[in-house]
Formats: sequence, C-alpha cells, structure tokens
Amino acid sequence: MYKHNQIIGYIEFDKTTEKLVDFLDIALYLISLKVQNIVLTDRMQKNIDFQNAMKNIAKIIETQYELNYIIPLLGEMIDKFIQNHLIYIFIKDKNNYKLMWPGACSDDKIMDIINAEPRKRITTEELGIFPLINEDKILGYIVTKNIDSKLTLRETEYLEDLSKQAATTINRANVYAEILKHATLDALTGFYNRRQLEERTKQEIASARRQKTSLCAIMTDIDFFKKVNDTYGHTVGDLVLKTVSKIMRSQLREYDIAGRYGGEEFVILLPFTKIEEAKMVAERLRKSIENKNIDITKINPDAQEKEIHVTISSGIYQLKDNDKENDLIQNADKALYEAKNSGRNKVIVNEQ
Ligand code: GH3
Ligand code: MG
Ligand code: MG
Repeated sequence: MYKHNQIIGYIEFDKTTEKLVDFLDIALYLISLKVQNIVLTDRMQKNIDFQNAMKNIAKIIETQYELNYIIPLLGEMIDKFIQNHLIYIFIKDKNNYKLMWPGACSDDKIMDIINAEPRKRITTEELGIFPLINEDKILGYIVTKNIDSKLTLRETEYLEDLSKQAATTINRANVYAEILKHATLDALTGFYNRRQLEERTKQEIASARRQKTSLCAIMTDIDFFKKVNDTYGHTVGDLVLKTVSKIMRSQLREYDIAGRYGGEEFVILLPFTKIEEAKMVAERLRKSIENKNIDITKINPDAQEKEIHVTISSGIYQLKDNDKENDLIQNADKALYEAKNSGRNKVIVNEQ
C-alpha cells in the first residue's frame, strides 16, 4: 500500500489469481486511502485534544497564580495524553528540586539526573526528562518513566510543546506571586491573603493579650470542593469560592477578620468573642452556605443542573493564656480535621 510514492503497509494473500491481482491493483489504492484517512483522523483528534488542553492551561493561569494549584492540573493533563508512563513534575525552589506532582518518587536515578540540571531534553529507553526553561532559566522538569513502552515520537513532540507552554505558565505564576507578596488582599475573594492574615493574627493575639479580651479563630474548608471543579469546571469552582466568601463577609461584624488561608480554606478571627458565641457564628455560616442556591447558568448555560449546593466544615478554638502564636490557627485546624473525619458539614470546637 502506498501513500504518494511511499510504502505505508502490505497486505498478504495466501493464493492469488490473475483476476485477484487485477482487482487488487484498484482496490489497494482505495484501501490505502482509507488507512491514511483513519491515521489522519486519529492524529487530528489528538491534536484537537492537545490544543484544548493548551487552552485550558492558558485559561487557568489567567486567574490562578498558585503553583500548588496549577501543577497538579498540569500533571493530570499530561496523564491524559501519555499512556503507560508515570509522570513526575519537579519545580525548582531556591536551589532544590521539589517533586510537586504526584506525592512521591522513589527513583533515585531520576533525582540524580535532575540535580545535574540538564538543559536539554533527555530520552532513554526508560525515561523522558523535559526541562522547563524560561528566558534561559531552568524552572523545573517534567519526567516520564515508562511502564512497558518507550515514548513515541509524537508523545515526545507533545511533551516538548507542553514543556514550553508550562514553563511560560510557571514563570508567569512566579512573577505574579512575587507581585502579590506585596499585596494584602486575595484577588478572587477580596479577603486578606495568607501572608496578611498571618500578620493580622499576630496583631490580634497581641491586642487580646494586652487588653485581656477573648479571641477565637474559625478555620473553614469547603467540603468535596475538588468534585465541584471536576464536575462543573474550575470557573464554577471560582464562583463557589466567591459566593462562599460573600456569605461569610455578610455575616461578620466590622472588626472580624476574614482571610483566605489556602485554595478553599478560610480563617476567621473573632476578637472580643468567647467560644460559645464563636460556635454560634460558625453554625450560622454553615447553615447559610448549606441553604444557598448557587446559580451556575451564567457560566454553564447548557448544564443540566441550574444551581448547585456546597457545604462547609469548621473548627473553632479560643486563645488560651499560655498559647504560642501558632497555636490559635493550628488548634482550630485540628478541630476542622475532626469535623472532616466525622462526616463534614459540621462545626467542631477544640476544647483543649
Ligand atoms: P474535603 O471535603 O476533604 O475538603 O475535600 P476537598 O475535595 O474539598 O479537598 P481537596 O483539598 O482534595 O481539594 C481542594 C481543591 O481545591 C483542589 C484544588 O483543585 C481546588 N482549588 C484550590 N484553589 C482553587 C481556586 O482558586 N479555584 C478553584 N476553582 N479551585 C481551587
Ligand atoms: Mg475541602
Ligand atoms: Mg482543603
């Protein structure tokens, strides 16, 4: 079978007659065309999927700057394209390479290669090492380790393209994070960002000690939030974050302090508040969020569901005299952990 003048395959027959040979002269041409068509369609589909994934990365970076959030998405995306390989993503943090996806890598050989900082792609029978380079700086590596077959040429090309895109994305995230270090508010929710929240926590603890007043912290985390993203997309996830933070704001007093601690985790500091009162506040929040219909039609006009619901779990702690600075949030977090483990959508007080 030919494509232009190149052989693309053979069909073998046990017996031939002159008639069959005549017939095959014509049929082979058609069969070749069909084979080429299938190969092309398959390639095109892969290309479309790849382009879509690229667009997705671009979309996510428009609103996101946290590598902790971006890298797992990138890892999952690569996983979809590259079959029969384990995927690892390492990111440079100061002078060390930190595995950011997935949780563990027990292969010392990989670490050795990466620590030698190759500036070019390395592909062996077993491994594919793709440097993430932006403006001559190595930001990290995407590594593939085969389970039963070596990377195909096509997969290698995909990974090369993806590494370039990913390096730009990571660089932008780094630059953005640097700028945000000087900002005080979280862009999505308008709450204090983590850094500012930690600053305010110190101040509030000092002030409660000075004035001998009580201070409580509520640590809140949205339940099964990953599922919201996975089911409805990250834009809906963002809308949920905004909605939850808006409800929180509307229920707090002017001098309460709300911060976004991490992705879908919030901390609320309640000055002049004892634990019973803090519990009421947290319970009220829990109920209002549970009862909120979140309209997603603007983002997903075609979705079957018009509105969705989420719940939150919270842990509460009241500052004690001998506590160290970190205890306030950490002890609230312990109670949150218990709330998660005992069924979610509930408030647990750390009585410690
Ligand atoms: P649990 O009930 O145990 O808290 O489960 P969970 O799914 O909420 O917890 P997990 O920590 O596994 O998932 C948190 C998810 O939050 C993972 C991440 O993709 C998502 N996330 C973090 N930051 C953002 C963000 O800014 N926007 C969106 N849409 N998602 C985010
Ligand atoms: Mg959660
Ligand atoms: Mg969480």
